[in-house]
Amino acid sequence: MPNEKDSWQEQLLKDVKSIRSEVRRRGGINAKMIDEAIKKYRKNVALQIKSCPTCGSKKIKLVCKQITNTFKGQTYTVPAVEYYECPSCGEHVYDRYAMRKIESYSPAFAHKRVAGKRSLAKV
Ligand SMILES: [Zn+2]
Repeated sequence: MPNEKDSWQEQLLKDVKSIRSEVRRRGGINAKMIDEAIKKYRKNVALQIKSCPTCGSKKIKLVCKQITNTFKGQTYTVPAVEYYECPSCGEHVYDRYAMRKIESYSPAFAHKRVAGKRSLAKV
């Protein structure tokens, strides 16, 4: 199992790199391009999670749902987050992109969001 996790992370790293080089090649960046790249990446990953890391159920599947979180009593919702959900034990598995998206909506990461915008503009 640890090996499987390693290769999953290597794959993720490779995909992040290919997204970055694609951005560089086209000489610009916008939300649509990133979404497309993520969609492409997800297709590869969707084949890789076949069983729940918690209970081992094979019923785990990729879903796209709005999620609601709370930060310091402040409730915020994140629309259309894609993550793996296990119907057997209720486990949720978020990949790095889902985490990023959740973070970008979170009041806890308000500062990071501003910093991110600045560096994106430079690219
Ligand atoms: Zn499970």
